[in-house]
Formats: sequence, C-alpha cells, structure tokens
Amino acid sequence: MTGRFSVLSSEPVVLDRLPLRVDPAEVLRFQGYKKPTDLPSPEVLALFDEALAEGERLMEPRAVYRAVGVRGQGPDRLEAGGETLHVPQIAGLWGTLEHVGAGICTVGQPLEARVAELFEAREFPLAVMLDSVGSAAAESLAEYVNDWLCQAGLAEGLKVTNRISPGYAGWDTAEQTALFRLCSGAPIGVSLNEACFMTPVKTISFLVGVGRQARVDHYFTQCRRCWMRDCAYRRAPAAVTVHR
Ligand code: SF4
Repeated sequence: MTGRFSVLSSEPVVLDRLPLRVDPAEVLRFQGYKKPTDLPSPEVLALFDEALAEGERLMEPRAVYRAVGVRGQGPDRLEAGGETLHVPQIAGLWGTLEHVGAGICTVGQPLEARVAELFEAREFPLAVMLDSVGSAAAESLAEYVNDWLCQAGLAEGLKVTNRISPGYAGWDTAEQTALFRLCSGAPIGVSLNEACFMTPVKTISFLVGVGRQARVDHYFTQCRRCWMRDCAYRRAPAAVTVHR
C-alpha cells in the first residue's frame, strides 16, 4: 500500500478507494455509549446494523497529504511552509522535527446527502444513527491515514507522530486556514469557508510531525488500530483494525 510514496513528499499525494472499515465502537461512542458497561438495546443494535451497512456502502474515503520542512520550533510554535502554527506544548509533545505533514481526509458527500434525505423524511432515529456512522467513518479514516503514514515513515527511517487538528487540544480553529494553505483540500473536493467550516462536513484535517527524533510514545490510541503485522516498533497491541 505504501508503494513509492514518501512521507516527505512536497507534492500533494491523493489517496482514494481506501479499503476502510468503520470502527463500530466509534459509532456507539458518537451515540453516547462511552463506557464498556453502556450497552445498547436490541432495537438500537438493529438500527446500528442498518446504518453501519448503509454508511459503509455510501462512504467515499479519500485523503490528500503533503509535507513541508520545519524552519523553526518553539515550545508552542512551529514554523513550516511559510506558516507559523501556534500549538500548545507542541515541542514537549513531539520533540525535534525535520518536517510536518498536513493532511485532509473526507468520507465524501453521498453519506451526508442521505442523512439530509432521512431527516427530510422524518426518519429521525436512522438519520441520527447514520450521521454517527459518518462521524465514526471520518475518525476511522483519519486513524487509517495516520497509521499508514507511520508505516511509510518507518520504511524511510522516519518517525511520524500522532495527528492533531485545529480546534482540539488548545489549537485555535482559526489556524485551519494556515493548514489549508499547507495542504489544499481541492484535490479531494474539500473546501473551507470563512468561518473555518469544512465541506463535506465529515472531514478531518490534521497535522503530523515527521523526524528521526520525533516523539511517538505518548499518544494513547497509537498502534491500537494499525494492521501492520510484526511491526518491530509497535507500542500497543492491535485491538481492532480499520483496514479491510
Ligand atoms: S504498529 Fe504502530 S509503530 Fe508500527 S506501523 Fe503501526 S502505528 Fe506505526
């Protein structure tokens, strides 16, 4: 899958027709089932099965990725590709970096259109469940791409960190525009408006650090969904894969 792809590619790389599987636990998390003891009723499970099957049929997982060299680093600052990104504690979290990779991934428009159609038809339970499937699909896709980048990086003797996104962990949502300047969503049909909302909505933009000394040991889900067999660098056992 990694082929001749380089995590240092300064040309945008488009990944499509990805063999993605949605993590079912992620769907239930979006439905509010957060603890292992929170169990859905048989009626909810039937709805869940229907929505998951429909969502996996409708989703069109695609991603675009591009790397840029890091020109400067501070405790809460990264300078790369002509942009200055302000990410709290990033030096402590990621260590010394040579590059950062910016990526955008989406599960596309058809799933969202179907959710809107179901709301229009007042089929609310299925609409809400399918919307959760879409959110879980986007999360699963971002995790898939993160693991895929980690695999590609290891093949080049480079470490790739966990992903971070504008709007999370203290990183200002307004820097979404800087992220889109580093990696445009246009090649996969993703646009950004002035309020920093992405279209399609089930889209995740992210940044990863890349470097020989990059820190990759602090992130709680890393490796758990990765399908790489016999990886000498695995830090946690595989719990579930998001790769078909
Ligand atoms: S098992 Fe972990 S270290 Fe190995 S490629 Fe997958 S995410 Fe990277």
